[in-house]
Formats: sequence, C-alpha cells, structure tokens
Amino acid sequence: MPQISPGLRKWSRSCRSPDRAHGLPAPRYPGVVPTDPHPLTGDAFASPVPPGSGWPGDPATAATPVAQTAEDVTRLAVAATDLTGLDAAVSVCRACPRLVDWRESVATTNRRASFRHEPYWGRPVPSFGDPQARALIVGLAPAANGGNRTGRVFTGDRSGDWLFAALHRTGFASQPASAAAGDGLHLANLRITAAVHCAPPQNKPATVEKTTCSPWLDRELELSPDIRAIMALGGIGWDAALAAARRLGWRVPRPKPRFGHGATASLEASGRAVTLVGCYHVSQQNTFTGRLTEQMLDDVLAQVRDLIDSRG
Ligand code: SF4
Repeated sequence: MPQISPGLRKWSRSCRSPDRAHGLPAPRYPGVVPTDPHPLTGDAFASPVPPGSGWPGDPATAATPVAQTAEDVTRLAVAATDLTGLDAAVSVCRACPRLVDWRESVATTNRRASFRHEPYWGRPVPSFGDPQARALIVGLAPAANGGNRTGRVFTGDRSGDWLFAALHRTGFASQPASAAAGDGLHLANLRITAAVHCAPPQNKPATVEKTTCSPWLDRELELSPDIRAIMALGGIGWDAALAAARRLGWRVPRPKPRFGHGATASLEASGRAVTLVGCYHVSQQNTFTGRLTEQMLDDVLAQVRDLIDSRG
C-alpha cells in the first residue's frame, strides 16, 4: 500500500466539509483518500490531486483562493500580479460545473484502462513554460487522459508527442518527449496556454465555458509584455486569441482575420507589434490523416521563431 503523507491526511480531513480549506468537494470515498503512485516520483497522490500536496509543478497551495463562479474568475484573474500567481489560481478553479464534474469523473471512476493505477490531476491545467517568453501557443483545452491526468499541457497524449517533438526540433523545448510532470522538460522563449483550462467532454467546450475561462487568457496576455508572436492551434485557439486581444484594447484588423494553416494577423498592443499565426491543431484527427505533417508544423514554428528573433 502506498504511504499517505501527513499533507494528504490533512487534506482528507479538511475536505469532509466542502466549504473548508480550499473548497474542493468531499472525497468520493468518505473517510478514505485513495491514492496511486506518481509514474515518475512514486509518491502517493489522491485523485484529483490536492493543491500543495507535492505534485511536480503544482503552482497552488491549500490556501490558493478558489474561483467558484464566472465573477470569481474575473476577480481572481485581475488580482494575479504575476504568471505564477495566475497559474496557481487557474489550477484550482471550479467555475464551470459541467467541466468540474467531467474532469473529476475521468480522474476517479472513468479513467482510461491503461492508466487506471495512476493518479489523475483532475484539476484545471495551468499554462506552462518560460515566464519571459516572446512566443505563446494558444491551444484548445486539455485532453481528458492527457493533461487532465498529468497536470501539464499536452503532456501524456499523442497530440503532445507531436507538439513537443516539433518544439524540440525547432529549439523551443529541452527534450522531444513529454510524458509526465517532473520529467525536467523546460521551454525556452515559449509558453503554452489554452482557451479553456479544463478537459471538456468530446473536446468540445460550451460557449459559456469558453466565455467563463476567457479572463484567465486576458490576464495571461497582460502579464506577458514580451510576447511578439502568438501561435493559435486550430480555429478555437485563433478565435480565443483575437477575442482576448480585442477585450484588451489591442488593435485588431477588421474584418476578422480568417484562420488557416500559416495564416497571420497583425495585432498591436500599445505600440508593440504582435503577430498571430495559425496552425492546424496537433490532434490525431489532423496528424493521422496527413492534414498536418511534421514539416508543416516545423514550418509554422520556424515562422514564429523568425518573428520573435526579428523584433526588438
Ligand atoms: S474551464 Fe476555465 S473557468 Fe471553467 S472551471 Fe476550468 S479553469 Fe475554471
């Protein structure tokens, strides 16, 4: 039996009442926090992973304030003074009831069979990467058995295999594979975020969920003054980036620029030029069918590299 750390016991006790501590619900097995060993560290974790219990890269603690409503998201996003604080607030958010139910049910009773003995993060997946990055990737949402399991964007699924291999080839990632948080992967000059931070059923967030999650993206951009290029993965990432730019008062072309692979849109944020670049999503639907090839992905990343290198 894996050992239960004192921190987990404390979390278990505090969560028997849903209003205590960080507001997470009571465990599904009253009185017992079932645990599984982390695939790399071997440490025992409950699923969903309690904030501050030692998960590699967990930005939150048991004291991180929890957004329960769309209004809370707006308030807590604005209150974040740096990307670390923003990541922490994102990672404990509970503002979308349907997505909270889905991510936690996948993390507990609906795991993929091949991962049934692994702990599942089961929380919103925060952005990841270099806080001084000049390039930002905006994806759609975490995968139910990928980021929702590992707690890191695009980590532990086939889409991530494609993306990180390409990021490594183009000099943005320190290693070509990304299987689990805590594996030493770091990004240089790049951060990765998502339009929606929780895994949605069928990878399809509802319009209201995209709207509720949008203040996190707005604040991500506000707290990233060095960004010169944004690479949107798929039409949802493209639309989310353009909408965020508009809300922040950036200059955005009209009519709305159309998404396409390699398409660009010139934005301006208080005199700072930022180019939005479209890229087909690295979903298996695209990579298996050849709609997106490795060369196509590398070419767009090279385009992003040129943009950030050519701008002071
Ligand atoms: S999708 Fe975004 S706003 Fe909704 S619960 Fe997840 S992190 Fe919060």
